[in-house]
Amino acid sequence: MGLNYFYPEFEVIRNEQRCINCRVCEQQCANEVHSFDSGLGRMVSDESLCVDCQRCVALCPTRALKIVKSDCRLRENANWDQDTIREVYKQSGSGGVLLSSMGNPKPFPVYWDKILINASQVTNPSIDPLREPMETRVFLGKKPSRVEKGPDGKLRTELPPQIELSMPVMFSAMSYGSISYNAHASLARAASLLGICYNTGEGGLHEDFYQYGPNTIVQVASGRFGVHERYLQAGAAIEIKMGQGAKPGIGGHLPGAKVGPDVSRTRMIPEGSDAISPAPHHDIYSIEDLRQLVWSLKEATGHTKPVIVKVAAVHNIAAIASGIARSGADIIAIDGFRGGTGAAPTRIRDNVGIPIELALAAVDQRLRDEGIRNNVSLVAGGSIRSSADVVKAVALGADACYVATAAVLALGCHLCRSCQTGRCNWGIATQRPDLVKRLDPETGSERLVNLMTAWQREIMELMGGMGINSIEALKGNRLMLRGIGLNEKELQILGIAHAGE
Ligand code: SF4
Ligand code: SF4
Repeated sequence: MGLNYFYPEFEVIRNEQRCINCRVCEQQCANEVHSFDSGLGRMVSDESLCVDCQRCVALCPTRALKIVKSDCRLRENANWDQDTIREVYKQSGSGGVLLSSMGNPKPFPVYWDKILINASQVTNPSIDPLREPMETRVFLGKKPSRVEKGPDGKLRTELPPQIELSMPVMFSAMSYGSISYNAHASLARAASLLGICYNTGEGGLHEDFYQYGPNTIVQVASGRFGVHERYLQAGAAIEIKMGQGAKPGIGGHLPGAKVGPDVSRTRMIPEGSDAISPAPHHDIYSIEDLRQLVWSLKEATGHTKPVIVKVAAVHNIAAIASGIARSGADIIAIDGFRGGTGAAPTRIRDNVGIPIELALAAVDQRLRDEGIRNNVSLVAGGSIRSSADVVKAVALGADACYVATAAVLALGCHLCRSCQTGRCNWGIATQRPDLVKRLDPETGSERLVNLMTAWQREIMELMGGMGINSIEALKGNRLMLRGIGLNEKELQILGIAHAGE
């Protein structure tokens, strides 16, 4: 027992000539990697505790530190790679389910990188977004299939409730508890400044954030944490979370250690208790049951808020979405298997679900074939990394995209994949007050606004290049896309031609 079966995954390289023993790295590392050895008169490192969050590297005043992936390899072969061997060692030591965070890191195809965007040449000229109007606004919700006018010529058709976004992007669900107060504050402020929405996730809405209601999507998940009438009334829309891309088919678990006084009040659960949301909603076993919840939520808000149903991208997603569209939901959010999370069982994260690109194309096509595409808006999430991914998603049929990992990167996340420990050195996935205060909500929201503003400009440039001047004209416009290196089946599901055609 106590035997270490493997060399640490990361090495701390300290340049002794540069190090001035200021101990900043020691103060900054919640994993206690660095310490001062008074006997040796210098800093030392316990590399077995390092998660490669790069906090010490960023804050070392003399640039004395580097964290590198260790090149000490276990003896692997084509069947048994490093990670698989390490996981067996870990489980034979702990007897437990392996936990991870963020999205699926396995080398499955990233279809966004195998899709190319068109640009106008000669005919249908391109549009210069600096000189000509370009519409990036979108409205999410049910659209009437036809409009009626009264004898006075005025519009008679009533539009069901919509969410208005200044661009086809929203911050996706991250609960207060899994992320810090300051991370939520950053997202809420940025969403309000940008004219888009952020999402409470399943953790309820902190009192301080009710002021951002018009830019908030309030979530109702299986645990019903923090759900009450005022909460439902507070947001721009209500989202029923049926599933999540990072962990389809299972519930959520926020360890009691993260449930401090504020989280406990917001979630309406006792302080220090584990917040476990069950895998299914215990009142939903059919589309009819889902329909009841959709209509209950509409009744609770006087039919003033659109209802979103969020599902993980899984096999047969097109049929599932068709059922949801018939349940009365206004918006369907589909979350692909590369989507991030604060904590998920590693096996589920890495093996369950399907890529968002295939799911989105299949759903859009099915709803069109059934003539019910206008009954719902589609929101695609699960590793939307850039403005180009947004444009490709819209052309594949999305009305808008959910973004989370890119948003936390903007807040300082270094993708160390250890959110589940609660020791996020960047103040994002933690409730420890000393760590939370490292993220300044002013700076956080400014960086988010910058990121989204840059994306919006790029979206306009990409659209202009295609000769398209509105998101509405780009939506489902698969003629603007070509596949590269894809087989016939993949092209068929995506509904696009191959490059060169
Ligand atoms: S932060 Fe840099 S200079 Fe300061 S003790 Fe650590 S390695 Fe040395
Ligand atoms: S949020 Fe924090 S703990 Fe999670 S991956 Fe990013 S830096 Fe690491």
